[in-house]
Amino acid sequence: MGIMDSKHKRVIILGSGPAGYTAAIYAARANLSPMILTGFQKGGQLTTTTEVENFPGFPKGIDGNELMSQMEQQALRFETEIEFAEVTQVDLSERPFKIYSGDKLYTSDALIIATGASARYLGIESETKFKGRGVSACATCDGFFYRGKKVAVIGGGDSALEEASYLTNFCERVFVVHRRDEFRGSKAMQERVLKNEKIEIVWDSVIDEVIGDDSGMTDLRVKNVKSGETRLLGTEGMFVAIGHTPNTSLFADTLTLDEKKYIVTESGSTKTNIDGVFACGDVTDSVYRQAITAAGTGCMAAIDAERWLAEQ
Ligand SMILES: Cc1cc2nc3c(=O)[nH]c(=O)nc-3n(C[C@H](O)[C@H](O)[C@H](O)COP(=O)(O)OP(=O)(O)OC[C@H]3O[C@@H](n4cnc5c(N)ncnc54)[C@H](O)[C@@H]3O)c2cc1C
Repeated sequence: MGIMDSKHKRVIILGSGPAGYTAAIYAARANLSPMILTGFQKGGQLTTTTEVENFPGFPKGIDGNELMSQMEQQALRFETEIEFAEVTQVDLSERPFKIYSGDKLYTSDALIIATGASARYLGIESETKFKGRGVSACATCDGFFYRGKKVAVIGGGDSALEEASYLTNFCERVFVVHRRDEFRGSKAMQERVLKNEKIEIVWDSVIDEVIGDDSGMTDLRVKNVKSGETRLLGTEGMFVAIGHTPNTSLFADTLTLDEKKYIVTESGSTKTNIDGVFACGDVTDSVYRQAITAAGTGCMAAIDAERWLAEQ
């Protein structure tokens, strides 16, 4: 590969979501002059949402883009270098680590990976059209907006059942639309859902169309895969819970990943199986998946990196 130029940093952070920016704020204040490579989605997943009501410090809620822009400004205030670059290849076999973005090379003594994860969607046109206006992939984030309303959860794994159960805290009725005639999840979780009177399971069914107007989603049409019959559920919200994909393909050959392809870190720390490489945020977390937990582990990664560098 013809390398155009190269830049060395003590710490490089991959990703500009809450985990990446928080790691940068801490690393910069520890005098490590970090660099963030933002990736294509500068600001991360929260730039795809409007109101964030559960990030502490914003009692009236804050727009997702505004929150991420404030985190960026805070990182810049302490002289973080921020480059809009998507990493295309890494070489973690020796130090300094090599990080490539096309024909650009970056090297670093320590590396913090905060490349996040992406929610999987069904991929149908009407779903895309109403994303953020009725269609969501996070009940913890958006369930509250559907108080007293009817909603549907799509999926049949543990996280779908968990989301359905959670949504009954404020929704009038919750449909679980599942394409098969049995669940994959744990027995205990299934029992909890089947016993819940607010939940109705729509077996053997898939989404036919998300229906709506300028105000957003107004109804949902599902189709039974066995009979071909369609039915309107009367729901104003749809929560897609068919899994997440962590952004770890760059590290598949070098870092230890779990069975769902999340980066494995040492318990209670952000250390990976490679000395000097730390991971934080949603790329390590298939359970909580929140901005505040991502920011929390971003802080941990910067402190872990700083202490590790001091030992070298
Ligand atoms: C629609 C929606 C609404 C949400 N609402 C809320 C909410 O209200 N409250 C809440 O707490 N959480 C919410 N979440 C979840 C929250 O957004 C995530 O938990 C959080 O953003 C995870 O932060 P992160 O820093 O780990 O990664 P992400 O935010 O996923 O950011 C990952 C970063 O890595 C970068 N990246 C990826 N690949 C590469 C690469 N090859 N090279 C360089 N960079 C790369 C991306 O560009 C991006 O900047 C919501 C999520 C979605 C999708």
